[in-house]
Formats: sequence, structure tokens, C-alpha cells
Amino acid sequence: MHPPMNNAYLLLGSNDGDRMQLMHTAITMLEKNGGTVTSRSSVYETAAWGITEQPAFLNMVILLQTTKTPTELLAETQYIETTLGRQREIKWGQRTLDIDILLFNNEITEFPGLTIPHPFLHLRRFTLVPLAEIAGLYEHPKLKKTVTELLAECPDKLEVRKYA
Ligand code: AMP
Repeated sequence: MHPPMNNAYLLLGSNDGDRMQLMHTAITMLEKNGGTVTSRSSVYETAAWGITEQPAFLNMVILLQTTKTPTELLAETQYIETTLGRQREIKWGQRTLDIDILLFNNEITEFPGLTIPHPFLHLRRFTLVPLAEIAGLYEHPKLKKTVTELLAECPDKLEVRKYA
């Protein structure tokens, strides 16, 4: 018996330190202990959200195939965030490396400390633009719209541009 293989879409973000290297290290760590990354978006640069007087973010979305449950995956992503030195003092402040679980199969999970689909997924262009690149036709299990439709309707106006 093989445990079930799950599809998890993760958002990686960094706005401190060597942003590109940190995202690559996070992917390496996920592949070591979390599963297999089977798809990845381009890297995008976005002005910081919430607080504007701080460095711009790099963001990308990856598809992780994993046998972990959502709770196990959150423990793994939080371990990676901590290991890569994320500082939690400032809400929406600078962060070395941040990982959000956007989607997990077609599941809706509402535990204390874990909400999937991620509650801000449909509100942020820096999430929707890279997600649409690799999962445009994926239907949001709660909102019943595809990622491409959510992007077209998104009220967020922050510029998200491909990072060379
Ligand atoms: P943030 O500072 O915005 O990255 O939020 C981190 C907190 O969000 C953590 O304490 C997580 O427990 C919680 N959280 C809730 N849902 C999710 C999710 N889908 N992915 C990642 N973190 C989540």
C-alpha cells in the first residue's frame, strides 16, 4: 500500500538577504523531506504589501507532490522558515523566507492555525500571478472559480513583474 500522493501549491516569498538563493534553498529542503517539486512558476518581483517602506519581495509558486497531510506539511514549511532565519517580530515586516500553503488537492481545511485554501489567495496579485502561470485552470474549492478568473477579478493593483 502506498500512501496517497497529494498536490500542494506553495507560495515562496523573500524580501531580505539573498532572496533568490533563499528560495532555491527552500526548494532543496522541501525535496529532501517534503516530496517532489513537479512544477514551478517564474520568479516575480513585487512591492511589499502592507508596509511599503521595505525591500521588494521575490515570489514564486511551486507544485509539491507529497504524501504528507496538510498539518505535517505546515510543520515542515515552518521548520524551513525557522531554519532559514525568518524573523517574526514585525507583522508583514521583512522576512527572510516565507512559505504559504495555497491549495492542497481540492480540500478545504479550517483548523486553528491552518486555513486552506489560503485566506488571502484571491486578494493578492503577487500570489495569483505566479499561481495562474502554472495552475490557471485550477478551481478554487470554495470560490468555485479558476485561478485565471480570480486574477481577472482581483482588486489588488500592486505591480507584479517578472524578475530577470
Ligand atoms: P504569516 O505571518 O502571514 O506568514 O502567517 C503565519 C501563520 O499563518 C502561521 O502561524 C500559520 O499557522 C498560519 N497559517 C494559516 N493558514 C496557513 C496556510 N495556508 N499556510 C501557511 N500558514 C498558514
